[in-house]
Amino acid sequence: MRTVKQLPSEFYDYFLSTAAKERKPSPIRGLFPLENKPGVISLLAGKPNDALFPFESFSFTTADPLDPSQLVPVSITGADLALGLQYGATSGLPRLNEWFVGLQERSHDRKSNEGWSLTIGNGSQDVLWKAINTIVDDGDTVLIESPIYAGVLPIFEQLHCEQVEIATDANGVRSSDLRVFLENWPAGKPKPKVFYTVPYGCNPTGMTAAVERRREVLQLAHEHNFLILEDDPYFYLYFGKAERPPSYFKLELEMPEVGRVVRFDSFSKILSAGMRMGFASGPKTIIDAMDLHTGTVNLQASSLVQAITLALVEKWGYHGFFAHTRAVASFYKEKRDAFEKALQTHLGDLGEWSTPEAGMFFWFKLLMSPDPTEEGDSKELIETKAYEGGVLALPGTVFLPNGRKTAYVRAAFSLSTEEQVNEALRRLRVVMLKERED
Ligand code: PMP
Repeated sequence: MRTVKQLPSEFYDYFLSTAAKERKPSPIRGLFPLENKPGVISLLAGKPNDALFPFESFSFTTADPLDPSQLVPVSITGADLALGLQYGATSGLPRLNEWFVGLQERSHDRKSNEGWSLTIGNGSQDVLWKAINTIVDDGDTVLIESPIYAGVLPIFEQLHCEQVEIATDANGVRSSDLRVFLENWPAGKPKPKVFYTVPYGCNPTGMTAAVERRREVLQLAHEHNFLILEDDPYFYLYFGKAERPPSYFKLELEMPEVGRVVRFDSFSKILSAGMRMGFASGPKTIIDAMDLHTGTVNLQASSLVQAITLALVEKWGYHGFFAHTRAVASFYKEKRDAFEKALQTHLGDLGEWSTPEAGMFFWFKLLMSPDPTEEGDSKELIETKAYEGGVLALPGTVFLPNGRKTAYVRAAFSLSTEEQVNEALRRLRVVMLKERED
């Protein structure tokens, strides 16, 4: 048996926000587990009587990931249906929570009972919001990689955070820049408690952080006492040539003490975005504090969505699940290749980019002026002229705090066909050439 030295629960006193410390447990939800004692007659919760729920079964079909030509029927009935229709545990249906714990063991070598836990939310956005509000206080300084996922910016902004941007390049976050920032931190100014990153196929840059960068970030977290928020919806969409680098959640096992990573997983890109299925894994103290928040804000993720997810993953097994995610990744690799081919054809002389090895985004710089020293700003060109020319993408400014100017553009390659991509980039070329003439 290996020994993993988990940081003790008191260690997190420093990390919990005032709101998280003040939050009281729900007087009812906290007692749910007591109902499971054999022989107890529970008069506890205001659970509606499920005999009245007008559903007899839920049935769907899924392709067998090991042989996608075979359709497999799945039906949710009896006790499993009852679980799916009733209120349930705050951290999710126990069997699904355990299945996800088993997934973390297989994907990140994190074994259960080693001081970490997991909670299920309505997509990873839900658990991200809760984690940040569990750790960060109003006005705190936070470390963020930049450019950054546009959906997390408003969370930090709402908390009036000072966002210290750490630049990224083709190898992910520039950990040596992070070191410089931290080693020159002004005396007397409280150090940041968190660093936020999207380590694989980053949204928006498409970049995957190299393992040495990850190691250095972990080392810095240890030296300068911060937690790493590993927001990772594109982990299973890795299609790079080399083997996938280990996640922060896995790599931290190399550290003398474990418990500095809070990891966010999402099933949006691999099962369905509309199901809103995501989960957070990390130090038990942080996850418990997030659950207190869930207990007051939305009680739990939908039991029914969890029951459907559970029925599907139990039918597939881990083996089937990984076969499915491999198929998803190779689908996106083909899309990536087609997009890059079209980029080369239409914007090879008018743009610059690095090839993404995961995820669903290209992040490319438009050479907006014939003078290469002019940086340019893609906002107006993309929002107005390109749109009028029949192509819609996102100007890079959306992914920078304070809406700074940039010549970069984010294009998603997940949906369009090869023909559509070619036509879109051909249109963009026309707009670009006109821009450079004006
Ligand atoms: N984080 C990142 C980096 C994302 O790209 C997304 C989805 N766009 C999310 C979180 C939210 O994902 P979910 O659908 O699981 O809430």
